[in-house]
Amino acid sequence: MSRTVYLDGDFIAEEDAKVSVFDRGFLFADAIYEVTSVLEGKLIDFPQHLKRLHRSLSELNMQEACNDKKLLEIHRKLVKANDLQEGIVYMQITRGVADRSFFYPDSETKPTLFLFTQKMNLIEAPSAKNGIKIILIEDKRWGRCDIKTTQLLFASMSKMEAKDKGVDDAWLVSDGKINEGTSNNAYIVTHDDVIVTRDISNKILSGITRIAVLKCAEKLNLTIEERPFSIEEAKNAKEAFVTSASTFVTPVIEIDAKLIGTGKPGEVSQKLREIYLQEARKVAI
Ligand code: PMP
Repeated sequence: MSRTVYLDGDFIAEEDAKVSVFDRGFLFADAIYEVTSVLEGKLIDFPQHLKRLHRSLSELNMQEACNDKKLLEIHRKLVKANDLQEGIVYMQITRGVADRSFFYPDSETKPTLFLFTQKMNLIEAPSAKNGIKIILIEDKRWGRCDIKTTQLLFASMSKMEAKDKGVDDAWLVSDGKINEGTSNNAYIVTHDDVIVTRDISNKILSGITRIAVLKCAEKLNLTIEERPFSIEEAKNAKEAFVTSASTFVTPVIEIDAKLIGTGKPGEVSQKLREIYLQEARKVAI
């Protein structure tokens, strides 16, 4: 059975959803997106996703497609229409349809707003229990990784390289320092139980899960250092993990074939996943 998706005001079957070939999302990746996870039919960290959406729109001088109240209503209706208990809601806004030109079209161009749901086993994901193996790849993305655009080809290439090498994902590196994962934020836990993750800049996306997980770490009285960390620090860490909306906290057990800690998911990572999920469920709407 096909899904119900949302496109520019209508809830329709996925096969009936059509976007113009002149849409700037298609021609220029002139589009931004958000992914919100859904647990027990409820949206996780939704207000924070909207906040980041507004920032992305503002950085690109893109119009709001509709107000926040309406966006929440669309998300909820879509979750209900697809009877989504566990998975994600994907929302994309493009600058809209215009003749091809590098210059943005005039402000009358209507943004395209598209949403769909995807069922996923987020809680019982094997990667959460077993941890993931990653490789390190030189970060060749553009310089505005702080904006959540649909321009994801380098992330895709890097994931394919990881897959070809028989591992799960990659961390992207500049000047010997870890920026973030291809689709997640990257962390290490030192032998003194200090959590280290790169500070917010245009080199990384400010993850919604990152914000929430760092709050959980504070609650657990763990020390947090937001700073660049080196390849050497990463390989010699006691633990490593990644965070994202669809994977929550996922342990990293191997970096470039070097076992991290015991080579099993670490205690701090597992505890943070547990606490994050508890807190996320409390604020789910
Ligand atoms: N960095 C990148 C490059 C990402 O694609 C993502 C996932 N969208 C994240 C970090 C994590 O962000 P969030 O916790 O908001 O999913």
